[in-house]
Amino acid sequence: MPSPMIKDMLTFLDKSVTAFHAVLSSESELQQQGFVRLNENEAWELKPSGKYYVIRDESALAAWQMGTGERSGIKLVGAHTDSPGLHVKPNAVVNKSGYVQLGVEVYGGPLLASWTDRDLSLAGRVIIKEDNKLVIKAYRSDQVLLRVPQLAIHLNREVNDKGLLLNKQTHLPPILTLETTEENPFDIDSFKSMLASDLGVEQSQIMNWQLECYDTQAARLSGLNQEFIVSGRIDNLTMCHAALKALTGDASARAQTSLIALFDNEEIGSGTSNGAASSFVRDIIHRILDKDGGKHELQKGLADSFCISADGAHAVHPNYSEFHDPEHAVEMNKGPVIKVNANHRYATSAMSASIFEQLCQDVDVPVQRYVHKTDLPCGSTIGPITATGLGIPVVDVGNAMLSMHSIRETAGTSDHEMMIKVLSHFFRKDDVLAV
Ligand code: ZN
Repeated sequence: MPSPMIKDMLTFLDKSVTAFHAVLSSESELQQQGFVRLNENEAWELKPSGKYYVIRDESALAAWQMGTGERSGIKLVGAHTDSPGLHVKPNAVVNKSGYVQLGVEVYGGPLLASWTDRDLSLAGRVIIKEDNKLVIKAYRSDQVLLRVPQLAIHLNREVNDKGLLLNKQTHLPPILTLETTEENPFDIDSFKSMLASDLGVEQSQIMNWQLECYDTQAARLSGLNQEFIVSGRIDNLTMCHAALKALTGDASARAQTSLIALFDNEEIGSGTSNGAASSFVRDIIHRILDKDGGKHELQKGLADSFCISADGAHAVHPNYSEFHDPEHAVEMNKGPVIKVNANHRYATSAMSASIFEQLCQDVDVPVQRYVHKTDLPCGSTIGPITATGLGIPVVDVGNAMLSMHSIRETAGTSDHEMMIKVLSHFFRKDDVLAV
């Protein structure tokens, strides 16, 4: 039987089908734990040990518990809410060969073949006119609505030898329905009607949307001993969940402010108004630290801050072990992974790695080290962007996982609880340099 924490994580994954929904499910957790929402267009009155959160553009969230005031500086855990996938175009409807399909763009770098032959649906946000105002509505269809069927092997004889090659324009539009005729074609108004009836509004109220396909199959555990988590969006919603649990799991007073930042748009480089490269987290830290301008509280506080950037790490794949550096092949359920890259695709330094390793030692959690195979280009994450934007030490960590960016990824069950244990300890520990 999975522990309550693992069950909670599976529910979080199922609820959080898009970045918008990830923010909604995070918000409901924060509200249950007594966190108060603040708005960026208002003045804030922050009290010692007070618990607050801010949402920017519905898809990024920062939440924090104020320190007692004994120490300045921030303890920050960063993660991201978005996942690669297929996003619906504005002129969404494609009528072809008797089918109605949706035109889609590829967001980020999904393993495209994994999106074929899956039971897909549609979710995101829709902008509507309501009471003379533009209003955002979260949208999620729970119906299995869409499918990207593969070509039969009889028509593509070489597919098993050459691999499934997908043209992003022509091979990805998912099929929505057959309900279209020459006299009565399914058009953009029909699509708007579908959205409107799901949202309980009039078709004329629908303005625009940011909708994406999602896999309707629920997250679950697998393996002989249920040692694997299998789901979409493990990268990076498991780390969002771990950060949330670490922040909300223990309300005792802490000397320093504990902050989590769940950014959008990591998968496309973080360069948006609520991505890690934006002013989002810096603006919040500024308000927390710079209580009396002129005394350099912000700069002094930043100099006393530390960030853990948590994102997926590549577990060694038994069928492709040659793609891993043999000295840095990390395994599932062997503990959190510290990610190192000499060119700072990961922000880890010897010192930030030592701080994280000490945190793991403090709570008896094993730790692993990952370096990308030297003859392969290394991916990156929010760590280096946060280090650049804030000028604070950052360690890039994560849990080992397989099939990163597949529609259905795999990670280790007990790694998740270990990561929560370490992040919780990070927030509680008075001095991260203490051994
Ligand atoms: Zn990621």
